[in-house]
Formats: sequence, structure tokens, C-alpha cells
Amino acid sequence: MGVIGDPITQAKTPAAINPLFAERGADIACVPLHVPASDLHNIWVGLKAMPNLIGFGITLPHKQTAVELCDSLDPVAARVGAVNVVRRERDGSFRGYQFDGKGFVSGLLAKHVVIEGRDVLLVGAGGAAVAIAFALVEAGARSITVSNRTVDKAEALAETVNAGFGRGVAKAGRAEPQAGALVVNATSLGLKETDALPLDAGLLQPGMTLAEVIAQPETTPLLALAAKNGVQVHSGIHMITGQVGLIADHLCELWG
Ligand code: NDP
Repeated sequence: MGVIGDPITQAKTPAAINPLFAERGADIACVPLHVPASDLHNIWVGLKAMPNLIGFGITLPHKQTAVELCDSLDPVAARVGAVNVVRRERDGSFRGYQFDGKGFVSGLLAKHVVIEGRDVLLVGAGGAAVAIAFALVEAGARSITVSNRTVDKAEALAETVNAGFGRGVAKAGRAEPQAGALVVNATSLGLKETDALPLDAGLLQPGMTLAEVIAQPETTPLLALAAKNGVQVHSGIHMITGQVGLIADHLCELWG
């Protein structure tokens, strides 16, 4: 299998998933493939023509474009509007799947972070945030407040989630967590040392949990400040760990 993206050197999936294939006794190896956006269409045709390529992970900037290129979509990928794993099905077709949300939830549960019955403050409204919002509601979160720099996107995300579940579980709002909230940074802020904080760290209090999507650095400045305030913290690295286990099982189900 491959992992496609641009840039690609930062991709953590190959190192994380290859030992899982070995553990499962599967003759599968994952390699990073540098695919610039301008070449995606041509390379996609080439990937499909390689009979021993069982699928590939997808990272930035191809997750949305891949929706159009897949032969079919899993309902979760269709709902989120982004694909992060393509699997070659038995008939040779490429089907798009989405593991960001499930991986995030799996990472939380593996570390015994409570989701059920919790109010969530979701900061960010990009592709990762959409996937996470759906997965958290599915996992039993009581409410989701979406806060984003571009307010229209927060409102659109809340509407999409409410339409998906047929009830008013999500709303757009300010980045001010309620007592006991599960706070999620689903923005890209924290990747670079010079980034601003995604929200005011002073609002994070004991009893809350702060979960990151940023995996590199493993401890973001916001995570460090939250830990200092006595808040339960959860690194973005667990989202990767949560995902690769699910993805390895998914690929091995057909090709292991
Ligand atoms: P998108 O580009 O779709 O969304 C980016 C989000 O960050 C938007 O909400 C955007 O706000 C916000 N943002 C970006 N810059 C700023 C800024 N300067 N100030 C305020 N808000 C800002 O990206 P994704 O949703 O796909 O990914 C988000 C992050 O999640 C990335 O860092 C990615 O690496 C990480 N990720 C981690 C995974 C893991 O396994 N750990 C898996 C998937 C993603 P606006 O809408 O206003 O532009």
C-alpha cells in the first residue's frame, strides 16, 4: 500500500502501520509516495493499473479531491466529504473510506477518555473537524459547540451534523468551554512554533479534557499549558495510533 500526499516526508502512517501488518502475518508493506496536486489525476490512473497495490492512505492536500476520483464511497466518507483511505476491492475498483473520526474516537477510548454524555467544544471546522464531530456524536457526546475563525464554516458544520443525526446536537458558538467539557483542537494551529493558540488556555480548568489533532509536536504549546492548569490532556499522536489499527484490520480483511 502507499500513502499519498504533498509534502510526504512528515507522514507517520508507514512507520506506524508496517509493524501491524507484520503482527497480523500479512505480506503488505506501506510506503510514502510523493504526489503533487497537479499530478494527482495521472498518478491515480497509474496506481489503479498496478495490480499488487491494495490501496493507499491519503493526506493533505488530496482528501477532498479523492472523493471525485474514487469509484465508490463508503457512507462515512460520503457524509464527511473527504477520503483518507482508498482500498482496492475484489473487483479491482477503488473505494474511498474515512477513518479520521473513528481513529480519533478509538484513540480517546484507548486512553479511557470519557465521551458519553459530555459537552464538546470543537475548535476548527475543516475536514478533520467534520469527521470528528460525526464520530463524537456517534460515540455518545451530548452536545457539540463548533468554534472556528471562519464562522460560516462553523455554522455549516453544525447544520451538517444536525441534518445527519436528525436532531439539534450541534451549534456554532464561541471558544468558551463549559465545565467538564471535552475540548478538541481540530485546527492546524500548533504545527508551527510561531502559531497562535487555538483558544485562550486560561479557560481550560480541571475536570475538562483537552484533545489535540496535532501529532507533531507530540506536546503542543496548548497541551502543555492545559496540563499545567490540571486539565486531562490527550495528544494527537493517539489519533494516528487509533487509526492505523483500524486501517490495518480493514486492509487485511480483504488482502491480509
Ligand atoms: P483544514 O485545512 O481542512 O482545516 C484547517 C482548520 O484550521 C480550519 O478550521 C481553519 O480555520 C483552522 N485554521 C488554520 N489556520 C488558522 C489560523 N491561523 N487561525 C485560526 N484558525 C486556523 O485541515 P484538516 O481539518 O484536514 O486538518 C487540521 C489539522 O488536523 C492538521 O494540522 C492535520 O495535520 C491534523 N490532522 C491530524 C490527524 C491525526 O491523525 N493526528 C489526522 C487528520 C488531520 P478556517 O476555516 O477559518 O480557515
